[in-house]
Amino acid sequence: MLRSVILAAARSQKVERLVETAPVSRDVVKRFVAGSGTGEALDATRQLADAGLCITLDNLGEDTLTADQANATKQAYLELLAALGQAGLTAPKEGGGGVTVATAEVSLKLSALGQAFDEQLAEKNAREICEAAAALGTTVTLDMEDHTTTDSTLDILSRLRRDHPGTGAVLQAYLRRTEGDCRELATAGSRVRLCKGAYKEPEHVAYQAPLEVDKSYVRCMNILMAGEGYPMLATHDPRLIAIAQDRARWFDRSPDEFEFQMLYGIRPEEQTRLARAGHTVRVYVPYGTEWYGYLMRRLAERPANLAFFGRALISKK
Ligand SMILES: Cc1cc2nc3c(=O)[nH]c(=O)nc-3n(C[C@H](O)[C@H](O)[C@H](O)COP(=O)(O)OP(=O)(O)OC[C@H]3O[C@@H](n4cnc5c(N)ncnc54)[C@H](O)[C@@H]3O)c2cc1C
Repeated sequence: MLRSVILAAARSQKVERLVETAPVSRDVVKRFVAGSGTGEALDATRQLADAGLCITLDNLGEDTLTADQANATKQAYLELLAALGQAGLTAPKEGGGGVTVATAEVSLKLSALGQAFDEQLAEKNAREICEAAAALGTTVTLDMEDHTTTDSTLDILSRLRRDHPGTGAVLQAYLRRTEGDCRELATAGSRVRLCKGAYKEPEHVAYQAPLEVDKSYVRCMNILMAGEGYPMLATHDPRLIAIAQDRARWFDRSPDEFEFQMLYGIRPEEQTRLARAGHTVRVYVPYGTEWYGYLMRRLAERPANLAFFGRALISKK
């Protein structure tokens, strides 16, 4: 019910204008989106890097339906990477447990590069971005979208990794298949972001109960931490963060052999606390003009995210 209301709101241009111009929107957007252009994204990146955090940047794209739109997204990434390189933010950090761990890298959605209508075009665009990133010493992570795209995204990932082994994967703990995918991807040099998953998925493919998702997250984390790859644990959940620290000790992983990841604007104090304690913490920074779609889609995909954003607005911890 709530989901339908949010989806209806997301489609309504009237609501869009209302939300975009409401004073409270500016605060919400400023808190979760770094700005609309490369310059603002760069400023946010610098600030986070100065605070001892690593960054992965996402150029917000929306409903890519034509090759021209996909090309524009690719160009935006190439411009961003060039700016990051010029600012000295793409240099790999020391350590990294055998994988490239750059201060700033980029995250991209294959759908924004054309996956929905031309998989080969999306792969070609992603490859160009990977090449530009590699030339600057940094990496790319492929975000994971709804379950109908998982196989296509993992196939493209494996082909990109032949030339760019540092390309990161994302696996979603709510999917029933994910323990198997973790086993496949827990290999030397493999960067894998583990998150709970943000899309509304049917029961036959995804656990529905939060406790089931959390238990799956722990099983997946065990596989990744026991394996030979580089786990990137994307969660704000204090219980899962504590379990991760425990498993790192158990599997004898030093702090440079895995990282935590959190979203821009969510639990910023916890981000710096973990970094000060010696962990690598990477902040996922979305930027771009398409923020309305980003926020609304997140809410619509999972109305529980309403509480998620609401909680973040009143708390920094
Ligand atoms: C870096 C990153 C990248 C992501 N990439 C993807 C992706 O590619 N594909 C995808 O489907 N999803 C992605 N996600 C989203 C993810 O799947 C979840 O939807 C989102 O992170 C919420 O899950 P959670 O683990 O934080 O736990 P939740 O279940 O949302 O929260 C768990 C607990 O965390 C604590 N908490 C959460 N927020 C706050 C707060 N603001 N203040 C205080 N405590 C809080 C509370 O104790 C809460 O009970 C990504 C998330 C991150 C962090």
